[in-house]
Amino acid sequence: MERPHIFMLPSPGMGHFIPLIELAKILASHHRVSATILVPTTGSGHLTPAQKPFLDSLPNGINYLLLPPVELDDVVDDARFEVRVLLLMSRSIPFVRDAMAGCRISAFVADPFGIDAFEIAKEFGIPSYLYFPASATSLVFFLHLPDLDGSVFGEFGDLPSPVLLPGCAPLHGKDLLDSVQDRKNEAYQWILHLSKKARVLPDGIMLNSFAMLEPGPIRALLQEKLPGPTAIYPIGPVIQSGSVKEVDRVEREECLTWLDDQPDGSVLFISFGSGGTLSYDQHTELALGLEKCDYIRFIWVIRIPNCKSSNRPLLSPKCDHNPLEFLPRGFVERTKARGMVMNWWAPQIDILSHRSTGGFLTHCGWNSTLEAIVHGVPLIGWPLYAEQKMNAMMLHETLEIALMPQADPVSGLTDNEEIARVVKDLMEGEDGKRVRHRIKDLSEATKKFNSEDGDSTKLLAQVILKWGDYNN
Ligand code: UDP
Repeated sequence: MERPHIFMLPSPGMGHFIPLIELAKILASHHRVSATILVPTTGSGHLTPAQKPFLDSLPNGINYLLLPPVELDDVVDDARFEVRVLLLMSRSIPFVRDAMAGCRISAFVADPFGIDAFEIAKEFGIPSYLYFPASATSLVFFLHLPDLDGSVFGEFGDLPSPVLLPGCAPLHGKDLLDSVQDRKNEAYQWILHLSKKARVLPDGIMLNSFAMLEPGPIRALLQEKLPGPTAIYPIGPVIQSGSVKEVDRVEREECLTWLDDQPDGSVLFISFGSGGTLSYDQHTELALGLEKCDYIRFIWVIRIPNCKSSNRPLLSPKCDHNPLEFLPRGFVERTKARGMVMNWWAPQIDILSHRSTGGFLTHCGWNSTLEAIVHGVPLIGWPLYAEQKMNAMMLHETLEIALMPQADPVSGLTDNEEIARVVKDLMEGEDGKRVRHRIKDLSEATKKFNSEDGDSTKLLAQVILKWGDYNN
């Protein structure tokens, strides 16, 4: 059989970009599939500092093509992240067509923000596969959104009772994806549009989750008649195989050397994903809370605080300001014996897989969640944006692998006392022991799924067989 060659279109947010690249690497290394990655650009048409190292280190068999830049100058300053990304993607579609014309392509793979490009694949008669880089629960919700849109009046957040979806734990309206929280916002219209297209355009959906993690929603996706494609492949967990060494090489080396010197399981890693930021007040409370933890060691990836928690820039640009300026005066000095702050980006996979790391305070992005599960690191859930509240609820209530700090119901702030309490509880308390046990068990189980004859590997092989059929 001729080696399949696929085209992939990742959207630029790193939470979608990284897992698509990782999928390409698995396809190339274990399944003899080659890939061309189409990279949408804006502004000067260059890669972002976060994207560049990932693309510069692609293995043989995978190449990339920068699409010509599109203008986003007309987008209003306060447009939501999703709107910016979706405009970038939709304005890049003519370039996707140009790139694909005349090429021999076995399949076209995109994440949910690239669904509109499946129309182009259809024009060329190429099978299209959605790569869903979030949970099975989110996928069930996404495929049901057109129905919910017709049956729910008012805002989801005001619903008196939880939303019930096949196979899923009851979902409180206020915990749903944040882009559906304001139905008058353009972002909601975009997500609704994508969810309608997701039901009809893809030939199959590859889902970055696995049956042991989400048995209910995955069973519902595979066995019940849900709206949308019937060919659904839970091929997860697909995670970063190793940190990209070119990102801030010196800081990376310093961080790993520092970790080497710490006792086993003693370090709390704190990171809010590729773009998450805290409000100034929340950032300060976190710093004061860490100070109150006396001797607990930590690595904290810090960013410039925002006017409110959760805002994030379009493509996670590295900021020119020094985030250290926003920490309480003397914080670094007072904690230097046991803490390390990193500016903007950390080698997350190296940290999570290091023997010294014993906890992860995370925004519950799906990739961070899977990375922590694979490496067996217990969690403190601190959701900020996108579908992270849904993820946090699952980690805390269903899987019981995360502790959750309580925020003040009026100010929304989690104060330093509460932060210190939950950090100590995770790192040395009884609750911490319990969640550590549970996540270690889950981590063991993931090895089975990703092994050579594991379910995820077999499912991916099934998808590739279909691409091979098309090829011949
Ligand atoms: N990441 C990293 N270093 C950082 C921040 C993030 O390597 O300092 C990686 C992280 O390992 C994960 C991805 O960026 O693979 C973030 O994806 P996630 O879904 O967790 O969150 P998002 O960025 O989409 O909010």
